[in-house]
Amino acid sequence: METYKVIIIGGGAAGLFLANILTEYGEKDLLVLERGERVGKKLSATGNGQGNITNLRVAERGGYFSSDPQAEARLGALLSVYGAEEFREFWAKRGVLLSFDERGRAYPAGRQASALTDALRFYAEQNGAELRTGARVYAIRKTQNGFVAEYEKDGEKRACQAEKLVLCTGGKAAKNFGTDGTAYALAQSFGHTVTPLYPSLVQLKTETAPIKTLKGIRVVNGGLTAHAPSGEYTVRGDIIFTDYGVSGDAVFRVSAFITPEVESGQVTLSIDFLPEVGEQAIFTALQKKRAAYPALSDSELLLGVVNNQIGRAVMKRAAGDMQKAAGLVKAFPLRVMGHLGFDYAQVTKGGIPLRETTENFESKRVKGLYFAGETLDADGQCGGFNLHFAYASARAVAESITRGQV
Ligand SMILES: Cc1cc2nc3c(=O)[nH]c(=O)nc-3n(C[C@H](O)[C@H](O)[C@H](O)COP(=O)(O)OP(=O)(O)OC[C@H]3O[C@@H](n4cnc5c(N)ncnc54)[C@H](O)[C@@H]3O)c2cc1C
Repeated sequence: METYKVIIIGGGAAGLFLANILTEYGEKDLLVLERGERVGKKLSATGNGQGNITNLRVAERGGYFSSDPQAEARLGALLSVYGAEEFREFWAKRGVLLSFDERGRAYPAGRQASALTDALRFYAEQNGAELRTGARVYAIRKTQNGFVAEYEKDGEKRACQAEKLVLCTGGKAAKNFGTDGTAYALAQSFGHTVTPLYPSLVQLKTETAPIKTLKGIRVVNGGLTAHAPSGEYTVRGDIIFTDYGVSGDAVFRVSAFITPEVESGQVTLSIDFLPEVGEQAIFTALQKKRAAYPALSDSELLLGVVNNQIGRAVMKRAAGDMQKAAGLVKAFPLRVMGHLGFDYAQVTKGGIPLRETTENFESKRVKGLYFAGETLDADGQCGGFNLHFAYASARAVAESITRGQV
């Protein structure tokens, strides 16, 4: 049977980072098994194809979520060591320059996510790692000396073994990239549990009657607040009206706080169409317009203040009451009915509980078994946080695997 020091299951972001870091440390005896026909398919599609790889704010409080109450301190410690600056150096070694935007988001300077995948693939292969694609792992087992991974390739069943095994199999979101959630069973076969799973960074379904004339309209850099039983969450960004509810980066961002609660029916959104302008100023503008144009119909009063279609929808909801209309421009309420689910989500919330792993994400149940990336119960905000976690967790795993050799 083919034997390696390390087998990495999953050639996505975390698997490629890990193969890179291990080879950088001089560990050449490693195999990556990826079920897809190529590695890094999802990574190449990230950030609308531009690859939002990290964020200057990754080490700030509140960037990451987990069902584990201890997680914040633990992730904080991890990210204070493997933060955005350290990551920038990682990329520089691979010939990739990062550029940062005004929100702290980092992209490869050429704005091509596929360049990130190529850089990781070239580096890992050049330094001795083997990346085997079209290889779906369906079982793993412990042996006296390590682990056996059983996989299917080209219609044949095969097996290989290693001292250490790392699950970098991702979560359940966006199954068209090879992540359908079935890989959690590999961890469960070793007695690990999986926390409840929810989609995150996902479009939200809302009541549609108040917005049915707004389909396709984008509110640029609006304010969005979610009111949920657990609290109130406000973000800024684009909001796009759709036939099922709302999309856009503000919606994705706010979804990270509320998807576990949306099924309760107790979550509402309120949209601020004009975050820079106060309610009183809007009311005054409406009064002036009413005085200047007595013949103007109520539905047109917000013309020139907000998008015409939005103005009409607001005035209809306010039933012509100008004070109420000014309030609705600042807080247009929409009841949340659900989300579009895992197939449309970018990230999975939940996974292998952090308390079942050591600081370096080694299994506390089975020595030599590790986890990195989205398969763990840690998910990040929108803006480069999730790819950064794939990196930081892979770095922690690599430190443990190579301890003593670095
Ligand atoms: C459209 C989209 C855009 C995104 N944009 C961003 C962004 O701009 N910035 C950001 O930070 N995050 C972004 N994300 C999230 C980010 O891509 C993920 O959080 C990250 O890729 C997780 O890395 P991972 O290695 O844990 O999992 P993945 O990258 O999902 O990799 C897991 C790999 O394991 C393989 N696999 C699964 N099961 C098996 C098996 N049984 N055998 C062999 N292989 C298996 C899969 O095929 C897959 O290649 C985006 C996600 C999507 C879907």
